[in-house]
Amino acid sequence: MENKNILILSPHTDDAELGCGGTIIRLLEKGNNIHWVVFSTAENSLPEGMPKDTLKTEFTDVYRSLGIKDENVDILNYRVRYLFEERQQILEKLVTVRNKFKPDLVLGPSLNDFHQDHIVVATEMVRAFKNCSSIISYELPWNNITFNAQMLIRLEKEQITKKIELLKFYKSQFIKQRNYFSEDFIWGLACSHGAQANCKYAEAFEIIRWIE
Ligand SMILES: [Zn+2]
Repeated sequence: MENKNILILSPHTDDAELGCGGTIIRLLEKGNNIHWVVFSTAENSLPEGMPKDTLKTEFTDVYRSLGIKDENVDILNYRVRYLFEERQQILEKLVTVRNKFKPDLVLGPSLNDFHQDHIVVATEMVRAFKNCSSIISYELPWNNITFNAQMLIRLEKEQITKKIELLKFYKSQFIKQRNYFSEDFIWGLACSHGAQANCKYAEAFEIIRWIE
């Protein structure tokens, strides 16, 4: 995919990097235009004593390191774990972005994701884009009971290395020792999907809709 408009949806900062960081890097290398929307900076799930805007700052470091400009990013601040209360506002935001940015492809969470905020974003994503854009979902195995690896995007070692570099900006999450932030986990998952695509590394996606 080259020179397309691609919309990335993250319920919280870090979701898209974890689910499809290597693919985002590959899409940027191919000259695609990226617009990125984050719905919550999870102020209420930070370790005690940490500044409330910590995750916003960490995410800003991530997208700037990728060369993405501020005007191509929307950082919203809905209350973590309560996105269901904002369902209609989230839909209206997506419709506004749809009309302005006209994405060819939307990447968001899976309809098989059981995090209460992720499922809200996944559902509203389908509602907003089902008739006009291709839609694929990234994998977050700790939230998925099932995940259909219908689409595999092959990646180079350097792209996985860069994905790990991106995740290192999230120091607040390393403090929590989340096991899915470990390098072993990132390499292991990438290798496992690589084996499915007869290459070394890949990321997996569910296809919700494909329109060309
Ligand atoms: Zn999340």
